[in-house]
Amino acid sequence: STPVVTFCTLTKAATSGLLIKGGDYIEILAKVKIMAFDKTGTITRGEFVVMDFQSLRDDISLNTLLYWVSSIERKSSHPMADALVDYGRLFSVEPNPENVEEFQNFPGEGIHGKIDGQDIYIGNRKIALRAACEIVPTIEGSKGGKTIGYIYSGGAPAGVFTISDACRSGAAEALKELKKLGIKTAMLTGDSNAAALHTNEQLKQALEVVQAELLPEDKARIIREFKMEGNTAMVGDGINDAPALATADIGISMGISGSALAQETGNIILLSNDIRKLPKAVQLARRANRKVI
Ligand code: ADP
Ligand code: MG
Repeated sequence: STPVVTFCTLTKAATSGLLIKGGDYIEILAKVKIMAFDKTGTITRGEFVVMDFQSLRDDISLNTLLYWVSSIERKSSHPMADALVDYGRLFSVEPNPENVEEFQNFPGEGIHGKIDGQDIYIGNRKIALRAACEIVPTIEGSKGGKTIGYIYSGGAPAGVFTISDACRSGAAEALKELKKLGIKTAMLTGDSNAAALHTNEQLKQALEVVQAELLPEDKARIIREFKMEGNTAMVGDGINDAPALATADIGISMGISGSALAQETGNIILLSNDIRKLPKAVQLARRANRKVI
């Protein structure tokens, strides 16, 4: 398209809540064949609520465990962190992140911190390996697609919790519209397979491809495979999505809730977090591509 068409399209996109970081992306967007989405915070709201939280050790009280977990989570920017801090407050537990040493973040797995002389790991099944631990068997009653969190201390299981999240309104609609435009949709998540399948059920199986338990580099590898089929877009919000956003032909990051790294890496920022804007953006880009002034 001509500079005038490009300028008009960028302006039109911006007023509808999409910040496109350059005219070249309009053409790529017009020709997108596959759109891959992260789950947590992208397809889902990323507003978690803790449903259940248990200590697995007689020598660690629930309040002590909540104090350790919420203090370490206070140093994390993961969407789950606030939910755990809020849950602690229900038990009058105030986090004290200043007592946490050696904080580490393992994208797609969880976090580690040292508090009161204890090494604590919090995350999904994969974090067990970091904690040099056996995997805790799935706690009963935790089915139904809730995300299960594991806590390890001193090389042994210390607690489990379940946490739930809901799909963004309009997610199913957005995926259906993309399909109508001939675009294949996929979900790439670091969460468990059960949680991923549950999300697709809530979306009435709108996603054609679902891949779970992925590390950041796994997401990037799958994007590389998709690129062999055609122009690929990746939509994500987390630091764990940055390698995939950078690998895709076009990286799209969430505006309001996205991490700073995702926003820096993305070529397009979805200012409003509304993924219904994506099929609209593709249509806008296709119109611009046809227009010659
Ligand atoms: P997604 O790819 O769906 O956005 P993430 O890669 O952000 O998911 O997270 C994958 C999983 O890692 C989460 O479902 C959670 O179990 C675990 N996890 C990551 N960060 C944390 C954290 N700060 N506290 C607890 N669990 C975490
Ligand atoms: Mg995410």
